[in-house]
Amino acid sequence: MEEKKIMAQAESHILHTYNRYPVVFDHGQGVYLYDTEGRKYLDFAAGIAVQALGYGDEEYNQALKLQVDKLLHTSNLYYNQPTMEAAGKICAASGLDRVFFTNSGTEAIEGALKTAKKYAYEKDNCTDHEIIAMNHSFHGRSLGALAVTGNAHYREPFEPLPGIVKFADYNDLDSVKALVNDKTCAIIMETIQGEGGIYPATQEFLCGVKEICEKRDILLILDEIQCGMGRTGEMFAWQGYDVKPDIMTCAKALGCGVPVGAFVMTEKVAEASLKPGDHGTTYGGNPFVGAAVSKVFELFEKRGLTEHVREIGAYLEEQLELLQAEYDCITARRGKGLMQGLELAIPVGEVSKRALEQGLVVITAGSNVLRFVPPLVIEKEHVDEMIGILKKIL
Ligand SMILES: *Cc1c(COP(=O)(O)O)cnc(C)c1O
Repeated sequence: MEEKKIMAQAESHILHTYNRYPVVFDHGQGVYLYDTEGRKYLDFAAGIAVQALGYGDEEYNQALKLQVDKLLHTSNLYYNQPTMEAAGKICAASGLDRVFFTNSGTEAIEGALKTAKKYAYEKDNCTDHEIIAMNHSFHGRSLGALAVTGNAHYREPFEPLPGIVKFADYNDLDSVKALVNDKTCAIIMETIQGEGGIYPATQEFLCGVKEICEKRDILLILDEIQCGMGRTGEMFAWQGYDVKPDIMTCAKALGCGVPVGAFVMTEKVAEASLKPGDHGTTYGGNPFVGAAVSKVFELFEKRGLTEHVREIGAYLEEQLELLQAEYDCITARRGKGLMQGLELAIPVGEVSKRALEQGLVVITAGSNVLRFVPPLVIEKEHVDEMIGILKKIL
């Protein structure tokens, strides 16, 4: 009854901002989680697209243990080796030039927005610049990140929010064009919308937006917090479009379980935006998370994870489409690689709840989408196991 006790503790002391599923996870191994009662779960959520390497990875864990004993934290007033190495790996993988480490995705968004504002301010000394964001987007819960999140339900109670933000429709280039003017300093979007319901950008849309940005010296900010880090079969989803952002944001799988994010930019933007004193963080990019990020990039490369995702992602996609053909309640499949969504005509929360009862962790996105963001190390047999459980429920 350990489980009931822990849940009761949570209900009396934790701020009630989540309706949690009635399960207490205790440990994980590979792509499976185990609860305090010893039940086993196949994990197709990965802690919301975080645990790309799955659980209990020997090499990753060992690197962290070594760093714990060596040095956890020093502040950013000094240099440290693991984090400097990690920054180099992010730049090498992205072709971008400068990294600022944060503790979360939300903070990465804040930093990206500040960078865009400062870049525009440096040009004309004005502070009335506008940002274009997308409807149904999700960028985080701080006031700045919320200001560019295209979900009225999340935003309304906290308005007025900072900045002048206008919302366009995702994958509708004309709706973006209609909002662009001389005051526009940035266009921000997810390369694949996650929380909004797994909507990949179309090639025409992303290219079209990039073209507008280039023509008018507007900064393109691509939020890769969920879709980045190999999830689509490219290290960063935008690499599959041949469109390079001026700034990208990372978090979630960047540290594979330790709280770390980053905003990353081109040299051109870096030179003309944030200067010493303009931005800072106490924890951000400390040696501990630096060691994690550095090891994550090393393991991704050593194990050929992006190639693995292309192979397994194609298989997952195929199996989800077969499922769709079999069940009328599945109205659409969308996604790329190991970031997939099934749109359902039945209550999606109920499906997710019943899946958990059957030993499958799968989460929702938007109001009617079942979201599949498993550890990137899953194999075909795990896809088959997941499909088998889903069939029982549907
Ligand atoms: C999760 C997420 C965020 C926010 O990241 P946190 O680490 O929760 O602050 C921002 N953008 C996208 C696309 C996300 O999926």
